[in-house]
Amino acid sequence: MSQYPKSPLMGQMMDQPLLISSIIQHADRHFGSNEIVSRRVEGDIHRYTYRDCHRRARQLANALVGLGVGMGERVATLAWNGYRHMEAYYAVSGSGAVLHTINPRLHPELIGYIANHAEDQYLLFDVCFLPLVEAVAPLAKSIKGYIAMCGREHMPPDSKLPNLLCYEELLAASSDDYAWPLFDENSASSLCYTSGTTGNPKGALYSHRSTLLHSYASTMPDSMNVSGRDAVLPVVPMFHVNAWGLPYAVPLTGAKMVFPGPGLDGKSLYELFEQEQVTVSAGVPTVWLGLLTYMAQNNLSFSSFKRTIIGGSACPPAMMNTLRHRYGVEVVHAWGMTEMSPLGTTGTLQTKHLSLSMEQQELLLQKQGHVIFGVDMKIVDDAGVELPWDGETYGNLLVKGPWIIDAYFKNEGGQVLRDGWFPTGDVATIDADGYMQITDRSKDVIKSGGEWISSIDLENIVMGHPAVQMAACIGIFHPKWDERPLLVVVRKPGMEVEGPSC
Ligand code: AMP
Repeated sequence: MSQYPKSPLMGQMMDQPLLISSIIQHADRHFGSNEIVSRRVEGDIHRYTYRDCHRRARQLANALVGLGVGMGERVATLAWNGYRHMEAYYAVSGSGAVLHTINPRLHPELIGYIANHAEDQYLLFDVCFLPLVEAVAPLAKSIKGYIAMCGREHMPPDSKLPNLLCYEELLAASSDDYAWPLFDENSASSLCYTSGTTGNPKGALYSHRSTLLHSYASTMPDSMNVSGRDAVLPVVPMFHVNAWGLPYAVPLTGAKMVFPGPGLDGKSLYELFEQEQVTVSAGVPTVWLGLLTYMAQNNLSFSSFKRTIIGGSACPPAMMNTLRHRYGVEVVHAWGMTEMSPLGTTGTLQTKHLSLSMEQQELLLQKQGHVIFGVDMKIVDDAGVELPWDGETYGNLLVKGPWIIDAYFKNEGGQVLRDGWFPTGDVATIDADGYMQITDRSKDVIKSGGEWISSIDLENIVMGHPAVQMAACIGIFHPKWDERPLLVVVRKPGMEVEGPSC
């Protein structure tokens, strides 16, 4: 029920709920022959169409209903980016159940905690994660069965997993005659747990409505800018905030979808980019580092790649410049978080910035960017007083919008909003044109002699050094200054770094 009053004169538009199933229905009906290409865990490249994806999602939905999965119940996945994972995205949420994507990089005990907290009923997994799933199974009390996402020929021969089912056999035995149910658009659709820097991870429970609104917003030109003429390769995993929403946003536009599976190393990515003529991608800085290192070592260039969205952590300016100037790839710096579905801001220019010098434009584009419509933001001091948008004053960053959480799943952590705003835990500046720049996480901020030091600034400076491959800055105790920054630096192979000895 909405908290807002009704007008005496309501609009006379169709009452059609915003449901995730409508995206795949739309992709089938209007872009049915457009391709989804996946590098599979099995090692080969798999190709099919949106029409095939929709058909198999309906079969999976029938199979889940047959297994007794009801509305609102959670079905977990432990899987790379691929077509079967995409089928699960639509089958689980489309049938009214809740897709719980789990990060396979977490410790088994933490996965056990998350699965119990979510009360997962079934777990779908890529066979490469079998040892992890076997370690989690004794801990995960609510899981009734495990579905290996493969054909009979790749099923683990002597696994001790209770109630182990074969994905392809389940689908083969299920009809594609399935009508997506209609229900309230505010129903839960999917669940992601935050990385949990302190305490146990907490769940962000998205709704169909929030997911659809986020999908519309993320395709806009100053957002992820995806169109029917693109081939999109989400490097960002489908277990990390739903691959930033791309499995929903891409079929909405009819663009070709390219899934990298487990092949996230520079060589595998480069080959897929070229073979499938990828135009748009999205991922964290670390993956671009691997790709760029491989390309530099082999003196390669891109033939189709136009634009990438980089976020998840600050994109070092040196990386942006290499992508732009050496490889001709436009970089859109984006910021968001699990609690925000995740998109909040993206860095693109407005007409008035086009007359700035190239250097000034690049400085602006290094910021985390401008809000996309739907999200509002502000910075406040520790007493909650709003701070000026002058590009210099920094404060705690608060956000609000229809795809930002209201509370964590099962109300963990209690009331999280402050006067209707969600505190992000990031510290930022906002300039007069509304461009936000993250200076730190509030808990990671380094305070030296009473002054803030931005670990991101220091990392960016060091990353610009030609002999540095990676750098991390952490605050350590200092008897005089309270805290001083300590830089941990990885050299590029064969390079020397000289510095003052301490
Ligand atoms: P997660 O929920 O794991 O996606 O983490 C969200 C957090 O990652 C944010 O609150 C930021 O601290 C950080 N983050 C995301 N994008 C950026 C970015 N472009 N620059 C700096 N930090 C970022």
